[in-house]
Amino acid sequence: MKTINFSTYSSIRIGPEVGVKVIDDIGDFSEFYIIGGANNLLVSPNPPKLAILGKRYDFIKEIDGYLHIGGATKSGKILSFAKHSNIANFELMQKLPGTLGGMIKMNAGLKEWETWNHLVAIKTKDGWIEKSRIKHSYRHTDLKEIVFEAKFELQKGFDPKLLEIFKKFRDNQPQFPSAGSCFKNPPNNFAGKLLDMAGLKGKRVGNMGFSKSHANFLINLGGGTFNEAIKLIDEARKRVDEEFGVKLELEIEVLGHQT
Ligand SMILES: Cc1cc2nc3c(=O)[nH]c(=O)nc-3n(C[C@H](O)[C@H](O)[C@H](O)COP(=O)(O)OP(=O)(O)OC[C@H]3O[C@@H](n4cnc5c(N)ncnc54)[C@H](O)[C@@H]3O)c2cc1C
Repeated sequence: MKTINFSTYSSIRIGPEVGVKVIDDIGDFSEFYIIGGANNLLVSPNPPKLAILGKRYDFIKEIDGYLHIGGATKSGKILSFAKHSNIANFELMQKLPGTLGGMIKMNAGLKEWETWNHLVAIKTKDGWIEKSRIKHSYRHTDLKEIVFEAKFELQKGFDPKLLEIFKKFRDNQPQFPSAGSCFKNPPNNFAGKLLDMAGLKGKRVGNMGFSKSHANFLINLGGGTFNEAIKLIDEARKRVDEEFGVKLELEIEVLGHQT
């Protein structure tokens, strides 16, 4: 076990201090909710039983023409490895905070560049599973198991130009603590645009608010609480539904609270 204080560990800086099981071996941990870097999580004061992968799953290895990466490996480490080894397809990890397990579960990415694009297979407690056997789409996968390791295509040619493009996309992201985009973009629409049109841009409840520069970022302005975040989420969904008939789906995951 290790103690994690989510008000410092999570990117949105909200949550209690709790004991988290550290997983050091492949096995069945279905009674636990697996966390990575908590960059996509809003943790309530009463979270479920949590687990996290241990150091053993923090690795990058070239094996038989593939790149094998441990589920606990951070995006920054993967990006620098790709850069120094001149490996293509990992440029999207530029300022995309998370661990490989979290990125695979969320199919994290930017526009058409997604974590699953060059994924080959994942290793769960049931062994290696080919990517084609798991449904995945924009910010969604049907993955129910813990990812201990993943295998990617190994192609040469790290692209610094692509890195510049991703840097530019990130330039207008709010600097306040957040969990990235709060809602998924509805089909053929943008959550940020709908929030803006519904008057939510810059809207505050206590010390939480939708960013003035990027309406779909729920930001912590300092000492923001779980309840303030939930109030804003509920109000945003209600107003966007009332005004535009669109039911916004959360991209961030709320732990220990029904949304
Ligand atoms: C400033 C900022 C910018 C961001 N920009 C983007 C962006 O451009 N695009 C984007 O897609 N996301 C973005 N995000 C969200 C976040 O970076 C991604 O969702 C990332 O994949 C989260 O990884 P994590 O390790 O922190 O996962 P967590 O937040 O800890 O968990 C997320 C999900 O992954 C699951 N999970 C974690 N580890 C494993 C594992 N080993 N096996 C199976 N499931 C696991 C969890 O159960 C949970 O369902 C941003 C976040 C921030 C704070």
